[in-house]
Amino acid sequence: MDKRSFIKTGLGIAGLSLVNPVQSLQTLAAVTPFELPKLPYAYNALEPALDARTMEIHHSKHHAAYVEKLNAELANGKLSYSSLEDLLQNHAHLNKIIRNQGGGHYNHSLLWRTLTVPNSSKMPEDLKMEIIKYFESVEGFKVKLKQTALSQFGSGWAWLCKAADGKLFITATQNQDNPLMKIEGLVQGKPLLGIDVWEHAYYLKFLNKRADYVDAFMSCINWNEVNRLRLDK
Ligand code: MN
Repeated sequence: MDKRSFIKTGLGIAGLSLVNPVQSLQTLAAVTPFELPKLPYAYNALEPALDARTMEIHHSKHHAAYVEKLNAELANGKLSYSSLEDLLQNHAHLNKIIRNQGGGHYNHSLLWRTLTVPNSSKMPEDLKMEIIKYFESVEGFKVKLKQTALSQFGSGWAWLCKAADGKLFITATQNQDNPLMKIEGLVQGKPLLGIDVWEHAYYLKFLNKRADYVDAFMSCINWNEVNRLRLDK
């Protein structure tokens, strides 16, 4: 992803503002309207684990619709925010459209970044140590993440997050909510990895077999990217 499209997805802003302290709110305002980020790989790159047709519809239809509806809501210029994260942290609990469409844009932008060619990514040692610290073992962590994805009733996400104090934790959210949002009953943290358990993410190939989809998904996780997100401020 080039710097410009990285900025436009809104996910890079916090990190970039650290290396570029003169970046002003006025510059950041240029991130709207938000844009559908390009995938960092081809639609068929995750075959045979995740099929090309689902990837194409998921990205070019579902994610595109979240971006379009988010931009429509922001078009009146009434909301003030400095980044997509800031928008979700400060407006999602007050505005249902920001919560659903902004959440959808953020969650899917994160999703594409954290996937890669099946069985091609090895967990970095420092991430492994952190996971063992909080979940006892990598295997135990994977079981817990999968169980969380399977026990989410209806549409939503299972997350690996980093709390403000640095602790890693697993949680689940409904619909397009995520742990950046100030929503009652939701533990707050920075999402590092999210498993999309909406049926649109798997039904074409896996039908009702969510467990098989979660296994396939987990073979495509880009652990280097998850670790990069963990290390980013
Ligand atoms: Mn989705």
